Amino acid sequence: AEAALRQSQKMEAVGQLTGGIAHDFNNMLTGVIGGLDIIRRRIAGGRIDDIDRFMDAASASAQRAAALTARLLAFSRRQSLDARPVDVNALTASLDDLLARTIHENIQLRIVAGDGAPHAIVDANQLENAILNLAINARDAMPEGGQLTVEVSAVELDEAYAAAKPDIVAGRYVVVAVSDTGVGMSPELIEKVFEPFFTTKPIGQGTGLGLSMVYGFVRQSGGQVRIHSRPGQGTSVKLYLPMSDSIAESVVDASVAIQEGQG
Ligand code: ADP
Repeated sequence: AEAALRQSQKMEAVGQLTGGIAHDFNNMLTGVIGGLDIIRRRIAGGRIDDIDRFMDAASASAQRAAALTARLLAFSRRQSLDARPVDVNALTASLDDLLARTIHENIQLRIVAGDGAPHAIVDANQLENAILNLAINARDAMPEGGQLTVEVSAVELDEAYAAAKPDIVAGRYVVVAVSDTGVGMSPELIEKVFEPFFTTKPIGQGTGLGLSMVYGFVRQSGGQVRIHSRPGQGTSVKLYLPMSDSIAESVVDASVAIQEGQG
């Protein structure tokens, strides 16, 4: 949970940085575009004696831009996925304190465990981070208070269902639904919310990266995100995470070990 908090603080810092980076990058591109423009006009005017100078300047600008994007890529790659079976009931229960501290006093928090002990194959830190992000969105959608529910369940999506949805693979999923009773979203808004940097929040409050990061993490894990929302009534964001067979596997492993022990 502390890792999730650190991650969300880091994300906020990244959001603040992004504006500065975009500004720097734009300056570098201006150097390239301006240099090329001068070169073109010099060639047209037949004054090519010192165009090397402008070519070098444009090239240096382009190289600085390339170095900047390389650093950004190296930074984003560091958040690699460490997917392994995670007890999702235990994980959501462990977030209780952190979630309670994140939301306001006028919001009631409910964490509902799923039947059995559904395990999903995901990166636990990233899942914590995703739930925290969704809870922050839910909080922001309920300025007058309301109810935040984090509910775990398990579903089996059959071939017939999957065939109708190109982005769904049939199989068993652990579903984490983060629901609020807040302002809700129009269908037009829902279409935009996964875009990086899309936000309706005031500058300094929203980065527009929360849902796009949640989406990226869930898709990389082999799952899917669904949003159900009604303006004025509330929103439910559901994460479909591939279910692990590890419990069944570990039972099998144990019986093998017993047989070996007896033999
Ligand atoms: P941010 O929270 O920084 O704006 P997100 O990507 O998490 O970035 O969300 C993008 C936008 O989606 C929000 O600005 C808001 O308009 C909308 N949104 C997200 N979650 C909810 C929600 N639970 N209820 C209403 N609107 C939401």
